[in-house]
Amino acid sequence: MKHCDLVIPLYNEAASLEELHRQIVVVMSGLPVTYTVIFVDDGSTDRTMEILERLADADPHVKIISFTRNFGHQIALTAGLEHSSGDCVITMDGDLQHPPQLIPELLRVWEEGRYQVVSTVREDHDSVPLLKKVSARAFYKLINLFSDITLTPGSADFRLLDRQVVSVLMQFREKNKFLRGLVNWIGFKSTSVAYRCQKRFGGHPQYSFSRMVKFAWDGITALSAFPLRLAFCSGFLISLCSFSYGVFAIVAKVVGVMTVPGWTSILVSVLFLGGLQLMFIGMLGEYIARIFDEVKDRPLYVVKKTRL
Ligand code: UDP
Ligand code: MG
Repeated sequence: MKHCDLVIPLYNEAASLEELHRQIVVVMSGLPVTYTVIFVDDGSTDRTMEILERLADADPHVKIISFTRNFGHQIALTAGLEHSSGDCVITMDGDLQHPPQLIPELLRVWEEGRYQVVSTVREDHDSVPLLKKVSARAFYKLINLFSDITLTPGSADFRLLDRQVVSVLMQFREKNKFLRGLVNWIGFKSTSVAYRCQKRFGGHPQYSFSRMVKFAWDGITALSAFPLRLAFCSGFLISLCSFSYGVFAIVAKVVGVMTVPGWTSILVSVLFLGGLQLMFIGMLGEYIARIFDEVKDRPLYVVKKTRL
């Protein structure tokens, strides 16, 4: 019999945890696979850990990895994948926005044997805030424009990965894993299944707007060198323009049509170039910060306790 691991990152999900576990047990017990649920507690400060311990006492399928502090969703997912061993791994959110009822369908498609990655595509329900909808759409547009891979809008971290894919992912030495992009980058055969997004069962969304901006920026810089190229291109364009303007100014002077010394244009070009330089130094800084992170080679997360 095939073994399936569910990897579920949790950050203050006490409100939905028991219901999530109940639904998973109902769904999984009807399937012809053995399974393990790996809950990754990402430094929750509410009763999440307490409930997890209780669930693990009662149900041998439940495994726990607990971080010393909040390390972030992607890192929690990575930790779960690293500790998985099943023939396939399904990653999903802990707030019941990813319905466990979709798991049989994911497994069915995987067992056909043609696909190593079975993703899901979310169809938004009407209560998703407009800001979230718009920003999510902008995020996918940006990533697809700037990087070498294509992400499908609405594809969250709810997907099934074959063991083969997980092994390759775990060989990646980069710390800052942007899983969504990397899974596509690896290039195994993938397909997707649609589902309707549920309302959060309880608790609050953990992603604030600023965290989503950071997430998008991580995605772009992890997958592409386009912003760096942008610096070169615009620098080149601007130098070209100012060179042409210089030629024009000399000619105008020689011919004698321009007599007013143009302090405005000087000021404007100085400020403009200054601003542009600062912007691109900042952009270089972003990449250097990432190189710095990689060379420090710190552990990605610190585990306080495991029950595996
Ligand atoms: N999460 C996490 N660490 C964090 C933030 C979120 O492990 O720092 C988990 C969270 O518990 C949930 C999943 O990641 O299971 C998705 O989080 P959330 O529901 O806030 O994201 P959204 O659904 O808004 O994309
Ligand atoms: Mg959610």
